[in-house]
Amino acid sequence: MLSLVTEQFEKIALRTDPTLAIRLLASIPDPIFQRLQRMRFRHTLKIAAKAPFYVEQFAKRGIDIRKIRQPADLGDFYTSGDDLQKYGAEAFLTGRAETAFETTGTAGSETKSVFFSNRELDEMGRTSALGLYQLGLRREDVIVSAFDVSFWVSPSVLRTALQYLGCFHVEAGKIPPDEFYERARRYRPNVIFGEPSWVARFSEVAAKRGTWPMKFLFAGGENINEATRRQIEEIWDARVFMNYGQTESFGVIGCECSAQQGYNRNELNFYFETVDTKPDGEGELVFTTLTREVMPLIRYRSTDVTRLLDDPCECGLFAKRIAKIKGRVDEMIVCGMGNISPWVFAEMLRGVPQASDEWQVRVWHEDRIDVVELKVETSTPQNGHSPDALGAAVKENLRTRFPDFWKNLEMKLYDLRIKPVTNDSLRTTRKLKRIVALDEPPVDSIPEVHIIKETSRVNGHVNGNGSSLKKAVWKVDQG
Ligand SMILES: [Zn+2]
Repeated sequence: MLSLVTEQFEKIALRTDPTLAIRLLASIPDPIFQRLQRMRFRHTLKIAAKAPFYVEQFAKRGIDIRKIRQPADLGDFYTSGDDLQKYGAEAFLTGRAETAFETTGTAGSETKSVFFSNRELDEMGRTSALGLYQLGLRREDVIVSAFDVSFWVSPSVLRTALQYLGCFHVEAGKIPPDEFYERARRYRPNVIFGEPSWVARFSEVAAKRGTWPMKFLFAGGENINEATRRQIEEIWDARVFMNYGQTESFGVIGCECSAQQGYNRNELNFYFETVDTKPDGEGELVFTTLTREVMPLIRYRSTDVTRLLDDPCECGLFAKRIAKIKGRVDEMIVCGMGNISPWVFAEMLRGVPQASDEWQVRVWHEDRIDVVELKVETSTPQNGHSPDALGAAVKENLRTRFPDFWKNLEMKLYDLRIKPVTNDSLRTTRKLKRIVALDEPPVDSIPEVHIIKETSRVNGHVNGNGSSLKKAVWKVDQG
């Protein structure tokens, strides 16, 4: 009964003006808010239990949903991206879908469809509007968005949110930064939305061609490294705020506030947990949707590694937080270098002038040793930055910032190869996979000077065109 009253209160609060809505929501005591979450969870579970995927899984595990009070009661039951791929989104459907979006997938993985109703889109837009209002967005602001409109959820959520705030809004789509600069400038936007890597490139263009007054820039869709953020902020003399979300979550899981210390989590629409949690609280973020009726997700493994922060944020907002994302579960690997994940390399590149934020690591085993190859797009390859200077700067950062990894390098537990590459050569899909583990040495990785190349036929293998399959055999020239 109390939860139902709270739910009505929350609904009314969300329909008032944003300042009042935030005040009203903040006034709900924590225990009562948690009861509201549990009520929504049980409602979601009841709906989900009709979908073929959950029917099968709950039966297999002997889960009686009448006995489940909170997500943890489901024991080791989780839903994953692999499940979505294997069973198909249709196996998760419980209501009539009115729209669908797709996950990007990094190179090599397939996209997944996720279905929604317009009501769900509307609810998400309303909550997002509060987050943006909290950052200072107002009716008089002019927004141009460079979010990629192709099958991606973010532009729709943004459009719905802005409807509530009443801002002027132009959707440019993800077009080349210099074209955007030319065409967006006539509207004099004072708030710009885009993916972090795109915003960084756009800001480089603006640094050369001239800036104008900006309230803030808003980036989402991937992580940003702090050095890049500071560079963008200096160029515009404005803050860069980050959003954290996934297509599966329908956009906003959490939004940064003025403190830029993690994401204020959206607990109106999600229940958060972590799994495989280390003693320091770090683990894989798991979320359960609380207000979705078309394709509810129960304990969905985000593959993102982070911590749940329950202490109050310095900005004073009532919402609890998700710490900055450390990396993806499948990008954290153990090799001769140590236990590595993307933030390690971001840190090695921090402060290296010729390095851009576009980089990728490949790891493989070769001649009884692990090879860690770091490819970095260099912003100004011809301006006197030699590959040696880049390598020296990165290695110096490794030595001073990661003494353990440095020691392993000195002990020859791994080989570190740092390679500058040209701009726009690494990113093949919207998301750049930062660390790729390879089963065997890639043919393009071995420096020409060190090898003799022999090409031989592989016996018995013929490819689809009927021509013989050739495999390059590489031999290290010891001479
Ligand atoms: Zn805050």
